[in-house]
Amino acid sequence: VRHHQVVIVGGGAAGISVAARLRRKGVTDVALVEPSDSHYYQPLWTLVGAGLARAGETVRAQRTLVPKGVTWIRDRAVAVDPADRTVSLAGGDVLGYGQLVMAPGLQLDFDAVPGLAGSVGRDAVSSNYRYDLAPRTWEFIQRVRGGTAIFTMPPGPIKCGGAPQKIAYLAADWWRRQGLLDRIRIILVLPTPTIFSQPDWARSLEKVAAGYGIEVRYESQLVEVAGADRRAVVRDNRTGATETVDYDLLHAVPPQKAPDWLAGSPLADPASPFGYLEADRHTLQSPRWPEVFTLGDVANLPTSKTGAAIRKQAPAVVANLLAARHGRPLPARYDGYTSCPLVTAHNRMLLAEFDYALKPKPSFPLIDTMRPRYDMWLLKRHGLPAMYWHGMLRGLA
Ligand code: FAD
Repeated sequence: VRHHQVVIVGGGAAGISVAARLRRKGVTDVALVEPSDSHYYQPLWTLVGAGLARAGETVRAQRTLVPKGVTWIRDRAVAVDPADRTVSLAGGDVLGYGQLVMAPGLQLDFDAVPGLAGSVGRDAVSSNYRYDLAPRTWEFIQRVRGGTAIFTMPPGPIKCGGAPQKIAYLAADWWRRQGLLDRIRIILVLPTPTIFSQPDWARSLEKVAAGYGIEVRYESQLVEVAGADRRAVVRDNRTGATETVDYDLLHAVPPQKAPDWLAGSPLADPASPFGYLEADRHTLQSPRWPEVFTLGDVANLPTSKTGAAIRKQAPAVVANLLAARHGRPLPARYDGYTSCPLVTAHNRMLLAEFDYALKPKPSFPLIDTMRPRYDMWLLKRHGLPAMYWHGMLRGLA
């Protein structure tokens, strides 16, 4: 058993941000468990799917991002024993820790919808939720000259709750610019009773959807795909009625859940049907294992799973972890801040920012980000990626 002061599981948005901040605070013995050589900036995948960014812009070599002085262990965690304070790795090694940060993200579950796994990437079915598939979305959007396009969001907590509808707006905007929009029926299938969780932005988005003539199906979900026939089955969860729709494009966001090795583990939140990990919603500390902190997509927090949320969670985790190791009261409280840059056209965006209470939390209080704006589009396309690579991942923003 090799021992480290702090072990971080996962080197994505959350793990690298925390590692960088711990190093800046002078913590010397930090180990990062991350099997992948590549690191992805997933928020741009929406734009890749709409032909507005290249996939290559969203990936960087992990070795250029692991902060100096952090021990990178290129292996996959397969089990955590919080009573023993150990993490077991796929290669057979066991790590002991003084404190543990859990940040392995979540798992896409294409298999949960019959027919989806077998047709995604072909049969005019795509999903921006995977690096290899986002460019396919753009190919399929360009092929549609008429007919029906379906965009679906699964039930349950998912990363970036706005992404399932952003691609619908971007596709509609493209078809409008091609003079095709009148010939295409667009259906947006949402599991929720409203278009967006926060009511002020919901009103604005209803107008955006209506402006494109999008039919929004509420409290509904995709339940089956027959890719060879290009048919999708959509169920209305209020009545239980199903409808089979012939499609020319299907953009499906897969159901999502905690990684299998963690669902049902001692760290899983018994209150989460999806196996997400338990953490105090303000301190991000495990209520049962005080040396364990959790953040990012894997955490069962009642807010939207985004990189923007992680930007506020990471400093809180680091401040609290350092206080906990010295037996001091935890000083930092995460307020549930999350943000969703809702791209509504190739040059327009509105920025939704709110906390656990759904109270707006504007970063730019002097401008109205509830309306689609060009300056916000520039922020999404150019500002936020730069802030991610050069600020957040270095523990500076
Ligand atoms: P990830 O970034 O997914 O990283 C998890 C890491 O853990 C990976 O590197 C993985 O290799 C590693 N890992 C997995 N299993 C193990 C294991 N067993 N052992 C060790 N390591 C492991 N957010 C926004 O803020 N704004 C947006 O506009 C936005 N749009 C999005 C659009 C799309 C299409 C998608 C897919 C996401 C979007 N997001 C957006 C969400 C954002 O990308 C995620 O919330 C964020 O990346 C989560 O960070 P994370 O570190 O928790 O997980």
